Amino acid sequence: MLHPKIADVSATRHILNAFKLRASKKLGQNFLIDSGVVDDIVAAAEISPGEDILEIGPGIGTLTQGLLEAGAKVTAVELDKKLPAVLKETLAGYENFTLVPGDILKINISEIMPEKFKVVANLPYYITTQIILTLLEKKLPITKIVTMVQKEVAERMISPPGSKNYGAMSVAVQFRSVPRIAFEVSPESFLPRPEVTSAVVVCDVREYPQKVSDEEFFIKIVRASFGQRRKTLINSLTGAGFNREKILSALNAAGILPDRRAETLSVDEFIKLAENLSKVK
Ligand code: SAM
Repeated sequence: MLHPKIADVSATRHILNAFKLRASKKLGQNFLIDSGVVDDIVAAAEISPGEDILEIGPGIGTLTQGLLEAGAKVTAVELDKKLPAVLKETLAGYENFTLVPGDILKINISEIMPEKFKVVANLPYYITTQIILTLLEKKLPITKIVTMVQKEVAERMISPPGSKNYGAMSVAVQFRSVPRIAFEVSPESFLPRPEVTSAVVVCDVREYPQKVSDEEFFIKIVRASFGQRRKTLINSLTGAGFNREKILSALNAAGILPDRRAETLSVDEFIKLAENLSKVK
């Protein structure tokens, strides 16, 4: 069966008109209309035939079609209740597609993706950070995450310690994965055009992530440390309600000077700090 390409401005307009749809700003709908970008995302995902892919927000099926054409088995979670009817038509004839209507932040991902899988998505920008953190914080069998995000978020994800964009997001992403920016995407590649430049980030999820005994506590310490950016660690952590003496002793045990700022700490140092603090908490 020969399928017409969805990643094209007139095809996208035609589909939206045929279903009397308007892109919803509230749901972060910026549909891809550039087949070159779809091809590049699919290439970045390095798909082998039959591989399980979770797509978040398939929209009208633009990126989904690229993934299916590459032989992937795609499970897609879409929140917009108007889109299942559209996808049924735009992706008719593709066998390896399963649509799961719902909210990616509420759905039980392990239930729909029990085996090893990759995530590929052009993310809705209003919840990019929550989605990435959800994927990384949960113990899911993900091997790779390829996502289109705002360029500014991409920079936060890949920033090393000491740089101006390094923050809680960088630590969370780099703790679980090795991230890199694959390429940038200009607003013209979408309908409607977003106001910002986008970037595709590839996160290779670590097979053996550094061990922390209590992951929630680790994330809590990272967030508290960055809570007040200009403050020293000791002040940020006491400001977040931790006991001063206990922090001092944990910092000492971790070999970290108390007057350092969160943005200078490496992921390994955050791990040492959290481990020592959890012993005295
Ligand atoms: N994949 C399509 C493309 O590349 O053209 C659409 C991408 S659009 C940027 C984001 C999609 O995410 C929209 O289809 C939107 O309805 C969907 N979405 C928004 N919030 C969502 C959520 N919480 N859970 C699942 N999908 C969501």
